[in-house]
This record gives sequence, structure tokens and C-alpha cells, in this order.
Amino acid sequence: MTNAFAEQMEQARDLRLELTGLERGDEKEFLFQEWSPGRTMVKLWSLIDGEEITIPKYMVGPALMKRQRGGGYVFTSDPAKAPAFREGHVRCFLAEGSSERDSGLLEAAGLDHLPACPAIHLRSAYSKRIHGDNRHPQSSGALKEYLALKERTEDREDRRRQLEATLALAGRVAGESDDVASGPRRGRPPRS
Ligand SMILES: [Zn+2]
Repeated sequence: MTNAFAEQMEQARDLRLELTGLERGDEKEFLFQEWSPGRTMVKLWSLIDGEEITIPKYMVGPALMKRQRGGGYVFTSDPAKAPAFREGHVRCFLAEGSSERDSGLLEAAGLDHLPACPAIHLRSAYSKRIHGDNRHPQSSGALKEYLALKERTEDREDRRRQLEATLALAGRVAGESDDVASGPRRGRPPRS
């Protein structure tokens, strides 16, 4: 499974900053328009604690632009750039500064209004899952449902876009050969 999509976006982010010297405030204007078919969920790594997170593709752009208070970015598409993941420092998904909160995933799933959980020293990703299932069964379930739903709808979206692109291309090709064959278009209603 490649992570090419997030890598491209991160490169675009860094290149754009290099070329234009964009100030922080302007970054919000930065539009990501690239898309790659067939990948609906994308992995990013936290530059704070090395945690891996999987989010829907449409959230990757905003997550990559997210800044830490000190100025550095919060996420990277390259695990080699992230600090080594440390056992015993895993945050509950509802904790302040969790990857789920920072990436906008909680907000997207409508869970960001929930109080921050104080658990920030869970031992592993496994402990985190167990903690979430036991302590926050409803919100944990809601988050999983949201991700599953997104995976399905994004997949449909991707296929739709692919189909549209194919049809547009086919239409252009057909239009071009029409023009060549029949010259200027006829049949416009006369102006009166
Ligand atoms: Zn918790």
C-alpha cells in the first residue's frame, strides 16, 4: 500500500512555501486539488509523538497544513521524518493534542465537543484501543462508524470523478472530430 497521495501533498506544501514564501495566514488559501484514484484512506504520522493515524483523503490537506504552537507542522506523510513512537506516551483519541483531535477527525465526526480525556500515557496502540472501547464505547464506536462510512463514500466519489474525467475526455475527443468533420457548428437559435 503506497502513501503516494499524502507524499505528493506534503511535497506540494513544502514546494509552495519555498516558491512563494507564504506567510502562515495565507496558507489557508492553499488549495489541494490533486487526487489519486483508488485510495480513500491515507496514513499520516505525528511529528509530535510519532503516532500513526489513518484519515479520509479529503482531510489530508488541512491536516498537513496544521501547525504546532511552536510553529512546526503537526503531521508528515513520511514516517522517517516523525520521531520514534514511544511506548507509554499514547494519547486517548479524546485527549487534548491527540492525533484524532489535531487532524480534525474528531470535528469531522462531530465528536470534538466531548470533554478532553486525561489519558495521555497509554502504553501502546493496543492499549489505546482497549481504553477507547472500555471508557468511551459510544464515541469510539461513532468514530469507527464515521471512518467506515467515509471510506465507502470517498471510494464512490473517486469512482464518480474517474468516470466524469473519462467522459469529459471522450466528449472532447468526439467534439474535436466533429469540428473537423462538419466545420463550424450550426443549429444555434437566431438572435432577435
Ligand atoms: Zn480516554
